[in-house]
Amino acid sequence: MAGVLALQGDFREHRRAMAGAGMRTMEVRTPSDLEEADGLVIPGGESTAISRLASRYGMIEPLRERIEAGMPVLGTCAGMIFLAARVSDGGGPRPGGLDITVRRNAYGRQNESFECDLEAAVWPEPLRAVFIRSPIVEEAGEGVEVLAEWDGRPALVRQGRILAAAFHPELTGDLRLHGMLADMMGEDRR
Ligand code: GLN
Repeated sequence: MAGVLALQGDFREHRRAMAGAGMRTMEVRTPSDLEEADGLVIPGGESTAISRLASRYGMIEPLRERIEAGMPVLGTCAGMIFLAARVSDGGGPRPGGLDITVRRNAYGRQNESFECDLEAAVWPEPLRAVFIRSPIVEEAGEGVEVLAEWDGRPALVRQGRILAAAFHPELTGDLRLHGMLADMMGEDRR
């Protein structure tokens, strides 16, 4: 079963995209929900709010343990921040696990939001991406594969079974990233 962290943000849109990619889905709010999940999407939204609620629900440590143990996870925008080992302009409690440094709201300075096509190393066709006050990846460790860049910065990265996008794949109807999560989970897709 594929979980979506449903504390704050656009988890409903992700859940629709996950179902569209053929996954059976559930909303995850508590440590016992998390035990049922074989993979997890961490949605976009507001990373400080996700951090605050995850702390309140006792989710930080259980998430850290599951991610360390290799649970497939896809974090988008605020979800990417939540997975980042380092947030250069602060950031709340989070599981981390992904060896990147991010700066929050960094694409947002010139443009609150924009859409573009990203060339991704893993697909022949470009990926449509929506950036909304997105983080910039300032630094990525050696073990981090950069699958797509925007403006010379990593926009889609993978480290083991952690996949993270600075943008919102759940808003475009392009289900390839959710499909990649399903494949990492070994889901039987309908
Ligand atoms: N700016 C938000 C944050 O810092 C992320 C924006 C988003 O997820 N669309 O958490």
